[in-house]
Amino acid sequence: MSKLKDKVAVITGGNSGIGYGIASSFSDEGAIGAITGRNKETLKSSLETLNPNFIALEGDITRKDDLDRIFKTTSEKFGKIDVLVVNAGGVVDGVPMETITDITEEHYDKYMDLNLKGAYFTVKASLPYLKDGASIILIGSSAAHRAAPGMTVYGAAKAAVISMAKGISLDLLSRNIRVNVLSPGTIRTPAFDKMIPAESVNDVLQTWVDIIPVGRAGQPSDIGNAAVFLASDDSQFVVGTEILSDGGMTNIS
Ligand code: NDP
Repeated sequence: MSKLKDKVAVITGGNSGIGYGIASSFSDEGAIGAITGRNKETLKSSLETLNPNFIALEGDITRKDDLDRIFKTTSEKFGKIDVLVVNAGGVVDGVPMETITDITEEHYDKYMDLNLKGAYFTVKASLPYLKDGASIILIGSSAAHRAAPGMTVYGAAKAAVISMAKGISLDLLSRNIRVNVLSPGTIRTPAFDKMIPAESVNDVLQTWVDIIPVGRAGQPSDIGNAAVFLASDDSQFVVGTEILSDGGMTNIS
């Protein structure tokens, strides 16, 4: 039986990488709803592969008006929202991940605005439209637990997302809305390729794979499968916690 039959989901950043992997898994499990992003072309091409009950909505998650429009439109179209996946984030366009020696205050703010403030206000904007009993899944990162050169600010933002999820989870108990974090390890996505020069991307990926106990990088579908569990009624007793989907890298290596 389809695990998400007729559940209405909003997946931010559902047009690329991990978000698209989650949208595909949800679509296969009978969910309906909206994928969001800023890039019209990838929104269109991603939508074409999902079940016909999905829609694509353009919007920047750092803009309150865009967030309000996304949730209002989805709610009007489908009559409810059961699942929110706060996935949009990661690498800020055109801004490298830098060490404390190199980073400017402007670049610091951009990483925090996208990965922490953006996530918080995505949740806040969804609240008037989320059904009581809904599931919110915030996409964290193994970088919240495991330091890597240049990833301090990004890692700190994701660590704050984990802390924030625990707090929001308590705030929303009266509405029976569950909040959890799903933290991927190393997943090869367009973001991964954007961070690394094309000629060395395979070598860099291998250095990561060398420290992953299961001996491979993750796929967006690995994260999609875990997200299906958190979105489904199978996880009703999973509240205010983090699931790592990282091939054992964070806690075992
Ligand atoms: P991608 O670059 O492939 O996807 C990022 C997504 O976020 C895109 O859909 C992009 O859409 C959207 N996005 C980015 N900025 C904005 C914005 N301001 N407003 C709206 N949408 C935005 O990256 P990944 O799939 O790798 O990353 C997805 C999530 O997974 C991120 O939260 C990242 O931190 C996390 N993650 C990734 C890991 C990895 O190894 N890849 C590991 C751990 C966590 P568009 O450009 O159209 O706006």
